[in-house]
Amino acid sequence: MATQNVTLNPGESKPVAFTTVPALAKTYTVAVDGLTGSFTATMAFARLWGNTVDASNPFLGIQSIIQLSQGGTVKYEKQTTLTGGYIIENIVPGSYVGLVTALVPGFAPYSFNITFSDGEDVRLMIEIPRAAAGASYRLAAYYIYIPGKPDSPTSWPEWESHVRAAVEYEAKLITDYVQAHGINGSMSLVSILPVAVDSSFFTTSGALNKAMLISALKLLPSWGNSDVQVCVGSTDAGTNASAVDPTTTFMYLSTIEQDVKGMEGTMANRAYCELAHEFGHIFDCHNHCANKPCPMAMQYLTYAEWVSMGKMLWFCDIHRPLFLNKWQQGL
Ligand SMILES: [Zn+2]
Ligand SMILES: [Zn+2]
Repeated sequence: MATQNVTLNPGESKPVAFTTVPALAKTYTVAVDGLTGSFTATMAFARLWGNTVDASNPFLGIQSIIQLSQGGTVKYEKQTTLTGGYIIENIVPGSYVGLVTALVPGFAPYSFNITFSDGEDVRLMIEIPRAAAGASYRLAAYYIYIPGKPDSPTSWPEWESHVRAAVEYEAKLITDYVQAHGINGSMSLVSILPVAVDSSFFTTSGALNKAMLISALKLLPSWGNSDVQVCVGSTDAGTNASAVDPTTTFMYLSTIEQDVKGMEGTMANRAYCELAHEFGHIFDCHNHCANKPCPMAMQYLTYAEWVSMGKMLWFCDIHRPLFLNKWQQGL
């Protein structure tokens, strides 16, 4: 019961206010020293409490920040104790998206949906997943060209937007694939540079000396700031599709652009992700298979097949664990 002492002179009146947060939405009776009245609570606040813990060891509390959002707007934010304990009170009933961000390194952001009814008291132990090791890869692209050719940068300034669009399209497919398997991974294109190769980079039989090119690329700062590299060649650059251990892939720009057309349905019966194939080699899929539509099977899909797969990559039972395990271990 709440009390307030009020002193009144004869004939005087003073307002007295009492504040209460009711537990249920209903009509309440109030009495003030023999006088009675009532008020109706139209809404009762909810409460959320519990601990945030390590999903791989639920006895270990993890300090974190918990946010409850509606429509993308954060409505409640609470930092837990050092051992993960939290109480969020006075929550307006409704549906929320919860986001938990650990304040300790090594954990991935964790989100959940939660709905509170009127006055509900919810105890929730939130298990925060560990971030996968080595799951974020910085991708450097190099446009390999021969000076003086029509698709060299001086004659074809659009080269950069073409390389970016092609590489990012396929890198996104790979990112979507790992994320669809519950791995918090990413592959972001962090640099894109033109690299001229003159005749000294070619053997007498006209083949690009890839080892020599890699040696030259390794001197560039962008190489050191990347985890994986893709050498996207112009028409005559000799960058036929291949993977060179441990981190580098080669392919022609025209090949990737035809892949994209196939996967977008504007080139018939040619849906295929060359980058997924060559990155497959880097991520422990050393051998090819015959398991269409696995990228390691090197078979074109029809657009209808690609659509029926939800436009998502699919690695076979042999290659899926190899690829995903290596992805998580890091290169
Ligand atoms: Zn191959
Ligand atoms: Zn396979």
